[in-house]
Amino acid sequence: MRIVIIGAGFGGLNAAVTLQKKLNPSQHEILIISDNPQFVFRPSLIWLPFHKHSIDRFTFPLRPTFEKMDITFIENRVQAIKPKKNYILCKNGEIIHYDFLILASGASPDWRRIKGLEGESSSVYTISSALKTRKKVEELTENEPIVIGIAQGNPNQGIAYEFLFELDAFLNKQDIKCPITFFTYEKKLFEGKGKKGTARIEELMAKKQIKWYCDVSVKKIRGGHVYLNNGKHLPYSFTHILPPYKGKEFVFSSKGFKHDHGILPVKETLQSVQWDNVFVVGDANDIKGAKTGRAAEQQGILAAENIVKQLNHEPLLSYQHEQLFLTELGNEGAMLILNKLNDNGILKGTISGIFPHLLKRAFEKYYMFKYS
Ligand SMILES: Cc1cc2nc3c(=O)[nH]c(=O)nc-3n(C[C@H](O)[C@H](O)[C@H](O)COP(=O)(O)OP(=O)(O)OC[C@H]3O[C@@H](n4cnc5c(N)ncnc54)[C@H](O)[C@@H]3O)c2cc1C
Repeated sequence: MRIVIIGAGFGGLNAAVTLQKKLNPSQHEILIISDNPQFVFRPSLIWLPFHKHSIDRFTFPLRPTFEKMDITFIENRVQAIKPKKNYILCKNGEIIHYDFLILASGASPDWRRIKGLEGESSSVYTISSALKTRKKVEELTENEPIVIGIAQGNPNQGIAYEFLFELDAFLNKQDIKCPITFFTYEKKLFEGKGKKGTARIEELMAKKQIKWYCDVSVKKIRGGHVYLNNGKHLPYSFTHILPPYKGKEFVFSSKGFKHDHGILPVKETLQSVQWDNVFVVGDANDIKGAKTGRAAEQQGILAAENIVKQLNHEPLLSYQHEQLFLTELGNEGAMLILNKLNDNGILKGTISGIFPHLLKRAFEKYYMFKYS
């Protein structure tokens, strides 16, 4: 059997490693396709605009990693999938057949869904956008108005809070004072992460004199202002707004898939709702709850386990959503939020300070040490 994985981020990498451990290489072939030859530990991108990290410490080349594991690595861009015929069409015209497919291709920011937003907001989704943001941040001078926010529909709100507190720490260090306004579509700050999480963010906002609006949506961006649906027009000379996500281009070109803005619906087993031999993991699927590397990692492992179960004619496992957030808070360390279902019920906890910050760095080191 041939199992093909599209994408080598948290989801794809963990799916490949799990399959390699569980399958006999003389009977099965594992192929992984990525349009990026490098693994990027994306949570570390948050430090790049503020000179707190260097790129070579959170990236590594994928080919040698997969060669060591006897997994075929193909650097190519997928252009379309033909699920009725079980093949993938790549940019260079190459056709790759599969028996099972794991889609771990992530998502892209959908700037165009908010009127006027495209080209206006800084971002930290990729190395190149984080470096552009660094340039803009370095050019900030005293009293320039800053707007940071989370537009309706964005599924990874934590990035905006991290950016807010990292930028505040950066400006403080340069002794530059700028008025910062924050907005979010969430009903309250840091919604869904528990009372302690919200209280900690509120406390920090008050301490740093950051004005905020909750439960608002963006109507449009025009003439250097963010227009909110509560009637406020926020002027900015620098802005960082998290947009909704959309799926990768090839999903739109693959006629055999139903999707919502390119995001693919899945069953509890992570199988596509239409194709039992196709699994979708991580940012690419429509599972509710924050889109995180941790979720993509767990889903990649589960999809691989379920392929093995399908091969063995065993019942498939269902995905159990666990929340683990490690949110950087600039000069205030970080915050860890855990919400996990275990054998004795639900394990919950919130910890703030230097320990969660060290833990986030440790996760990155673990990936670099284990896979590079
Ligand atoms: C600044 C920032 C901070 C974050 N902080 C955290 C955090 O603290 N904790 C946390 O858990 N998560 C965090 N996240 C979220 C986390 O990084 C994402 O949820 C995670 O990367 C999603 O993993 P994925 O495998 O689904 O997709 P991705 O990591 O996006 O990987 C997608 C893969 O698919 C490949 N690909 C895409 N299109 C194609 C194509 N057409 N052909 C071939 N290959 C393709 C890409 O090259 C890549 O290899 C953060 C993200 C950012 C940007």
